[in-house]
Amino acid sequence: MDIIIRYLKNSSRIFIATHTNPDGDAIGSLVAMGLSLDSLNKKITLYNESPIPAVYRFLPSVNRVVRNINNENYDLAIILDCSDLQRIGNAVSIIKTIPITINIDHHVTNTRFGNFQLIDTSACATSEIIYRLIKQMAVPFNKAIATSIYTGILTDTGSFRFSNTNKAAFAICQEMVELGVDPYNIAQHVYGTYSLGRIKLLNLALDSIEISDNGKLSIMTLTQDMFNETHTQPEDVDGLINYAKRIEDVKVAALIQQHWNGKEKSINCNRFHVSLRSDGTVDVAAIAASFGGGGHSSAAGFSIESTLSDVKLQILKLTETM
Ligand code: 5GP
Ligand code: MN
Repeated sequence: MDIIIRYLKNSSRIFIATHTNPDGDAIGSLVAMGLSLDSLNKKITLYNESPIPAVYRFLPSVNRVVRNINNENYDLAIILDCSDLQRIGNAVSIIKTIPITINIDHHVTNTRFGNFQLIDTSACATSEIIYRLIKQMAVPFNKAIATSIYTGILTDTGSFRFSNTNKAAFAICQEMVELGVDPYNIAQHVYGTYSLGRIKLLNLALDSIEISDNGKLSIMTLTQDMFNETHTQPEDVDGLINYAKRIEDVKVAALIQQHWNGKEKSINCNRFHVSLRSDGTVDVAAIAASFGGGGHSSAAGFSIESTLSDVKLQILKLTETM
């Protein structure tokens, strides 16, 4: 960590990016890192290729996150919450022009890309690692940083329910509350209000659930037609897989999501993102990695080009070893 801090302190133009289709940890850690480097008077660019999901637009400084960049002669890149560099999307080409890349993450499948890595697979969220980094840099926490860190930990632990929930999650969140974070207010933003379309998408998602013959695998499917019908977007999928995972006797839940770019019909209907969740007895990070993706042992994902029926067949095959 010390060498990373030295590079942060010695750099003046810093580019910070997180993964496409960001979750609360991706945005929370991005904003917290940016705000803390602001106070060291660095020139910061915050980058995410995807739009900020509506539920995270209350976070401080999210309006500073840009979706396009020019090469502005950065001297340092920081990549957060990405197990491989490709997770940031098109900006990979810009990274290649920046002399130093720092990789900060908590995924077991991290490929250790970049010049320096700060990877802790026991951290509940990348936001936990950023918290420690800010402490170590002796940058004072303010309410804006605290709100971002709290939101990252809250969402990545599924509100302190998932298996990655650790002692630090509670200790850090308590400290953030002491700094002025209002847990009810954040919960209202993140979980309190959904668009009607999102509720209708939930209905279609629940209706799509199929269970394998042995009862151990559930598959939920979301197609472009469903997004169009309910006027929803990929960000509205967040959390739906947990319904498929909750089903009695299910060990692995899969959510197959047809690639959708917000247009009437995507150019490529045969691209899918598959999310996997397990009850802890099956290592879905290893399964996702075998398809070129990654993640955590009980929450992982990958992308695949094929027909929907073939994707389902490949997933159903997983039950042979369950
Ligand atoms: P989700 O299913 O919610 O998209 O992602 C679950 C976990 O798997 C997250 O930690 C996410 O970063 C990781 N993940 C999802 N999709 C991919 C992917 O295509 N590649 C990699 N390396 N990780 C992924
Ligand atoms: Mn994370």
